[in-house]
Amino acid sequence: MNFTLTEEQELMVSAAKRMVETRIEPVLLGHPADQPLPKAAMLDIFSAFAELGITAPRLPVEAGGGGLKMLDYGLILEQLPPVVALSLASHEGTILRIHLGCPDHIRERYLPDLIAGRKIACTANTEADAGSDSGAIRTKLEIDGDSAYLTGRKMWITNASICDVVNVSCTSGLTDNGRPVTRRALVDRGEVAFEIRETAITGLRQGHLSELVFERTRVPASHIMGDAGDAAKTLTMAWNGNRPLLGLMTVHLAQKAFDLARDYALSRQQFGKPLASHQLVQKDLADIETAIVSSRLMCYYALDCIDRGLRANGTSAMAKRFATQACERAIHLAMQVHGAMGISEELGIEQLWRDARVFQVPDGMNGILELIQGREITGTAAFR
Ligand SMILES: Cc1cc2nc3c(=O)[nH]c(=O)nc-3n(C[C@H](O)[C@H](O)[C@H](O)COP(=O)(O)OP(=O)(O)OC[C@H]3O[C@@H](n4cnc5c(N)ncnc54)[C@H](O)[C@@H]3O)c2cc1C
Repeated sequence: MNFTLTEEQELMVSAAKRMVETRIEPVLLGHPADQPLPKAAMLDIFSAFAELGITAPRLPVEAGGGGLKMLDYGLILEQLPPVVALSLASHEGTILRIHLGCPDHIRERYLPDLIAGRKIACTANTEADAGSDSGAIRTKLEIDGDSAYLTGRKMWITNASICDVVNVSCTSGLTDNGRPVTRRALVDRGEVAFEIRETAITGLRQGHLSELVFERTRVPASHIMGDAGDAAKTLTMAWNGNRPLLGLMTVHLAQKAFDLARDYALSRQQFGKPLASHQLVQKDLADIETAIVSSRLMCYYALDCIDRGLRANGTSAMAKRFATQACERAIHLAMQVHGAMGISEELGIEQLWRDARVFQVPDGMNGILELIQGREITGTAAFR
């Protein structure tokens, strides 16, 4: 076992840091912190992702992808501002789903622009009555000759308002035991009009989260992807990889909060000495560092399990649940070290906390992640 990055990994991490400094932070700082970024700004950021080779990290090189190991991708993603890292995860997760089992004409038409960062993609599964129970979707797909029609409403969809294509989970009838037969359809926003409404949330406010409404929206029947019933499989495959990646996004936020708290504790004096020399402040700093290091290692471990071809459903659920909780608590402690400054908007630390809170929701809430891990431990699913 070796806990040191290889020379190649060090190079990847420093290239990612350089790209953030020169190409991404200037865009984020050039726009209001509490408004979704314009699409043109997102395309600038996606072209930087493409240059770094991370728009399709999970696709093999022969298919135009980065062919990266998940651990290496995680090391890179950890360096990115989480608001754009989540957008990238939605985009590249959708690329993976398009790649898996889709007709060649769809791959050939869409993947080159998506991989080059000239177009943006997203996946719409969640509905009002299908959140944690992701298979309970009701968006209806009707096929009539060369046309297919979508009717339904999707919620909380990352990237939807800035995307060019949406991978929509839908259903065409029920199985014998009453569960929907899931299908996937690729909706091209350049060809199909439908309603999109941006939803404001606690954090990640430069990002994009929307509701989509399909009212017997016509798509070409040739845009139906994969086999009947494979939507859930392709979602789960990407989720297993995504969960530790989302954990690392909260590690990024907690690391920033820790750096701010340590500097503040060393510079501010109370009771005639720096905060940093009070024992309880040192305990807070020690607890924050412990949360960061343990979260980071657990996420790296889950990604490494995936790279080694092990079943990682439980490990990846555990990593996301632990990291998102531990890092939110770590940021809370860092705010405490700052006293009133911790809750002021001046230092930006309260924004780190709001951003971290958001990550407890996508790709599996903690209750569900506990049940996934429980299922892996016991062999019994408690969901239904
Ligand atoms: C920032 C963000 C990005 C997102 N991006 C996307 C996206 O790109 N595409 C997409 O399709 N969706 C996306 N989502 C939606 C997300 O996947 C869902 O919000 C999530 O799955 C939870 O569903 P819900 O909000 O309906 O909560 P619910 O499922 O209603 O859960 C509410 C509470 O009940 C608990 N609960 C539910 N069932 C059980 C159970 N069986 N046992 C124990 N506890 C249970 C949950 O843990 C939770 O605490 C995103 C959400 C957010 C916040």
